[in-house]
Amino acid sequence: MRITFHGATRQVTGTAHLLEIGSRRILIDCGLFDSERIHPESPNRQLAFDPRELDAVIVSHAHNDHIGRLPYLVRSGYNGPVYATPATADITAVMLRDSARIQREEVRNAHIKYPHLETVEPLYEQADVEWLIERLQRVPYETPVEVAPGVVLTYHDAGHILGSAIVRLDYQEGGRHRRFVFTGDLGRRATHLLPDPAIVRDVNILVTESTYGGKELEPYDRLIKQLHAIIARAIRLESKVVIPAFSLGRTQRMVYCLQELFAQHKVRPIPVYVDSPLALRLTDIHREYPDAYTPQARSLMDKDPMYFGSRFVEFCASWDESRRLNYMNGPMVIIASSGMCEAGRIRHHLRHVVADPDNAIVIVSYQAEGTLGRQISEGVERIQMFDQWYDLNAAVYVLDGFSGHADSNDLAWWYEQTGGNIESAFIVHGDPEAMDALVPVLQPFVQSPVHTPELHQSFEV
Ligand SMILES: [Zn+2]
Repeated sequence: MRITFHGATRQVTGTAHLLEIGSRRILIDCGLFDSERIHPESPNRQLAFDPRELDAVIVSHAHNDHIGRLPYLVRSGYNGPVYATPATADITAVMLRDSARIQREEVRNAHIKYPHLETVEPLYEQADVEWLIERLQRVPYETPVEVAPGVVLTYHDAGHILGSAIVRLDYQEGGRHRRFVFTGDLGRRATHLLPDPAIVRDVNILVTESTYGGKELEPYDRLIKQLHAIIARAIRLESKVVIPAFSLGRTQRMVYCLQELFAQHKVRPIPVYVDSPLALRLTDIHREYPDAYTPQARSLMDKDPMYFGSRFVEFCASWDESRRLNYMNGPMVIIASSGMCEAGRIRHHLRHVVADPDNAIVIVSYQAEGTLGRQISEGVERIQMFDQWYDLNAAVYVLDGFSGHADSNDLAWWYEQTGGNIESAFIVHGDPEAMDALVPVLQPFVQSPVHTPELHQSFEV
C-alpha cells in the first residue's frame, strides 16, 4: 500500500490521507485547512490528486478540519460514495450547509477584504453541499462494509464527539491479510458522557493523531470540582460565567457537565443559556442518538425532560433572545461560539462582562496562537473587540482538560491495547512539538522507526 499525507502534517488542520492499494484509491477525510477559503491562493483550493480517480471517501468524524473540503472534492469531479457513521452523516449535513451560508456572506463582503481581486468565488456553494449529502453512505459502528473490491471498512467508536470513529481497513496484499488503522481524533478516557475510545488489536499500519501528544490533561473529576467552585462563586457574587465553546462537541459536553454538577454535586442550579443557533441544531441531532452515551450519562439525562436540556438550560435562537442576556442579572452561565472568540455571538457577551471582576470567563478548549481566546487565556490586561479596547478584569479560568482529545497518557494506553506489534506508524494532526513528544511514547509498540510526515509525502508500507 502507498499512503500519501495531503493534510494535518505537522499541524492540526486539513486532514486528508490518500491510500493506494493496488489500483484502488481511497481518501480518508477531506478537511479544511485553518486558512480562509475565498482567496484563490488558499491551500484549501489546492488538491494534489485527481478526485475523479478516487474509488471511495471515508470520513472519520464531522469536525470541519476533517470534512470541510468534501463539497470542494465533489465540485472538482468526485462522483463516488462518501462513508460516514449515521450521526456523522447527520452532523456533516448541518455543518456544511452552515459553512456554505457563511461563505456566501464572505463573498458578498470580499470587496472590502480583497479590493484587488476581480472575481471572488466561494470554495463551494449550497448545491455542492447537497450533492455531497446525496453521496453519504451510513455505516454504523462495528459493521464491516466493502468500500472497494477486497477492502473492508469497520468503524469503531473513537469517543471524541458524537459519531466519531476510528477507521479500520482490512484487505489482502501479496497473499497476506493486512490491517490499516487511522485513529481519527481520539477521545479522552473516563469523561462520563462518551464511552472510552474502542480498542483495535493486531494493527499492521497505524496513522495516529497527536493533538495533546506532549501534554497531560487534568483528570475529569478534578475539572468538575473546579467548575463547581466557579459556579459557587457566581452564585455568591450573583455574577455571570461566560464559556466560549465550539458549537459541535464542546457545547454539548459543557451542558452535560453542568447538568451533572446540578444533579449530583449539590450545586444550586442556575440558568444556563446556550447562545448559538448552530449549537441548537447540532444538539437536536445529539438527542437522536441516546445509545451513543455512557449508561451513567443516560441515567442522568433520562431524568430531565430531554437530553442536553434540563429546565435550567435555554437555547437562544434569535438575536433578541441573545441581546436580552446583556441586561439580565446573574448568576447565570452563557455558552456561546466561536470557541476561540474570533467571531460570533461570544464577542457581544465578552464585551458586556469583561470589565467587571465579579464575572468569570472559562476557557475549555485549545486556543490557537494569535486568537482573542489565546490572549484571554494568557491573562492580558486589555482586549480589543469591535474596534474598541476593554479592560480584562473578569476572572479567567483555563480548564482545557474538557478537550475532546486524548492526552499523552490516553494515547499511550491506547497504543498498548493494540497488542504492540505495529509494523509502520505515522503521527499526524499535531503541532510539531506535540508530534515530536509523541514519538518516544509510540515507538515501543512499533517495529520500525515512527514517521512524522511532511505535506504530500508518500510512503510504501
Ligand atoms: Zn475532531
